[in-house]
Amino acid sequence: MPDLSIPLTDQWPDIRAGVGRICERFDNDYWNRLDRASEYPQEFVDALTEAGYLAALIPEQYGGAGLPVAAGGAILETIHATGCNAAACHAQMYTMGTLLKHGSPEQKQRYLPAIASGALRLQAFGVTEPTTGSDTTQLKTRAVRRGDHYLVNGQKVFISRAEQSDLMLLLARTTPADQVKRRSDGISVFLVDLRQAVGNGLEIRKLDAAINHSTNEIFIENLKIPVESLIGEEGKGFRYILDGMNAERILIAHESLGDARYFIRRATEYANQRVVFGRPIGQNQGIQFPIARAHAETEAAALLVAKAAALFDAGQACGAEANMAKLLAADAAWRAAETAMQTFGGYAFAREYGIERKWRECRLYQTAPISTNMILAYVGQHVLGMPRSY
Ligand SMILES: Cc1cc2nc3c(=O)[nH]c(=O)nc-3n(C[C@H](O)[C@H](O)[C@H](O)COP(=O)(O)OP(=O)(O)OC[C@H]3O[C@@H](n4cnc5c(N)ncnc54)[C@H](O)[C@@H]3O)c2cc1C
Repeated sequence: MPDLSIPLTDQWPDIRAGVGRICERFDNDYWNRLDRASEYPQEFVDALTEAGYLAALIPEQYGGAGLPVAAGGAILETIHATGCNAAACHAQMYTMGTLLKHGSPEQKQRYLPAIASGALRLQAFGVTEPTTGSDTTQLKTRAVRRGDHYLVNGQKVFISRAEQSDLMLLLARTTPADQVKRRSDGISVFLVDLRQAVGNGLEIRKLDAAINHSTNEIFIENLKIPVESLIGEEGKGFRYILDGMNAERILIAHESLGDARYFIRRATEYANQRVVFGRPIGQNQGIQFPIARAHAETEAAALLVAKAAALFDAGQACGAEANMAKLLAADAAWRAAETAMQTFGGYAFAREYGIERKWRECRLYQTAPISTNMILAYVGQHVLGMPRSY
């Protein structure tokens, strides 16, 4: 029987301490400077790569640390709890999961050790398209087999870190939607070598976004990719990526927990120290109670995140828990962010306080990698058995 116990205290103290020491070197000024210039936090990513943290989930036989998803969560949570942002590189930790689970022995041997060392960056995942959005199975990008290669045409949007990736997982339709039984059939997943593809049928254009997230539009016109780029069997790609999506949801839920804890700590400190009307503002219930509520909500979300991680690490089905954990943690972070904004009053808007940047950043997790409504639709239909709403 696998271990399904849920830790009631923070696990992986050594990892948290090690990551915390790295984060101390990247203060609010560093992140604000990059935010203004819309630049990639290369030094921060290099520091995490050199320390091996981004290879935490890659098995030891391929040069990684072989740790469970809960340990990866501890890394990302710590980064966010200190006021840093892991979004520039978190996908290097988990995008390889599809390759690890469904790639051929040759593909794994060829790529995983280099991904583990950081020599190859696999941190872009091309799913979303401008005309189909959340309706993933209707995606229009087509890959047509022509002898020893596939010819790919299509367009993607909001593809993060493509400019800072050597490899990208690409989801494309290999059998037209009107020729398959289930709409999730006929979609395949490819490992595209961006170093060869850019300028040869694939163009990356940076998208100007409200947060510094290195997200892009991708235009694909008559791109040739070798048949060896296909992961697993043709037409089964949608199912392959679902596993990886559970890992992503659990890890992003940890980031949201980190964000929530950052806001609660900062708001509590400020509420204790800021004196107006002759008393600390934290003495007013209108300031104190929202912070206390945010704390309670964060602790509750943390329990479900731990449950989802325990199920994932035990190899059990965890779709419901991973989705609900991501929903509750993102909600807890957003309410903590709003509470911190209100607690800091006018100073919340002063960039040097490090509140408004994190407030903008944590709002993303209501929308990506899956939006709140899509999670509620999943829970309504698949967990509770109500009719499909779309
Ligand atoms: C900064 C950023 C980074 C991203 N990074 C990536 C990435 O690296 N790779 C990638 O593939 N994608 C990425 N995305 C895309 C993201 O995962 C979302 O899936 C995507 O934005 C949703 O598509 P859309 O914006 O077209 O929304 P739409 O599908 O147009 O939806 C708009 C709104 O309507 C709601 N809605 C739509 N249909 C229904 C329905 N049937 N029932 C209830 N509500 C519904 C949605 O929940 C949403 O709130 C990123 C997005 C952002 C903003």
